[in-house]
Amino acid sequence: MNIILLGPPGAGKGTQARILVDGRNMIQLSTGDMLREARSSGTEMGNRVAAVMDRGDLVTDEIVIGLIEEKLQGDKQGGFIFDGFPRTLAQADALGALLEKTGEALDAVVEMRVDDEALVARITARSTCGDCGEVYNDLTKPIPADGKCSNCGGTTFKRRADDNAESLKQRLMEYYKKTSPLIGYYYAKGDLKSVDGLGEIDEVAGRIAKALG
Ligand code: AMP
Repeated sequence: MNIILLGPPGAGKGTQARILVDGRNMIQLSTGDMLREARSSGTEMGNRVAAVMDRGDLVTDEIVIGLIEEKLQGDKQGGFIFDGFPRTLAQADALGALLEKTGEALDAVVEMRVDDEALVARITARSTCGDCGEVYNDLTKPIPADGKCSNCGGTTFKRRADDNAESLKQRLMEYYKKTSPLIGYYYAKGDLKSVDGLGEIDEVAGRIAKALG
């Protein structure tokens, strides 16, 4: 099964993708994670996109399509979860063509709906484990009192450079201008399933499981 998790920054796509990875042996393809990795390993591409990401703008379609194309050639296990990709109509068209080329189908696009005020509150409280990427939130899922990640025991936690009020405003603007048209695009294709993204993590996971059938 191949699915897209679609939603604004802070909707919980990464958190829910990790649950699907564990439960269904799927592979999470997060273009945001791939770009952050390129930055931290100091590749030429990573250096080129750093300022764009920190501002909250989208990087070029060409770069992210290239990253996805490379991953689609690898092992697919229980299928792919596209997390943060596609973000533009050009990326959506490119993904369709890539899947067709590899004989794969897109099974569902899950739109996670969360209102804007909740997004701002979630993002400004967010941190992740530096070792395994487990997501924490100061308000809803704080880092354990012993300072150890509940998933891997790691003791370093980081906040994303673009999880600040200024970049978030731009990321939301990019979402509404360039990504939200994909909701109509996939609705028209008959692939869209919308779920309420507000609530406890397990509750939202249950809604996604139900939507996927
Ligand atoms: P994310 O971790 O998905 O919130 O992505 C972090 C940042 O990486 C975004 O604000 C963009 O600058 C960039 N990015 C990630 N995925 C894409 C994409 N599919 N298209 C363009 N830019 C992307």
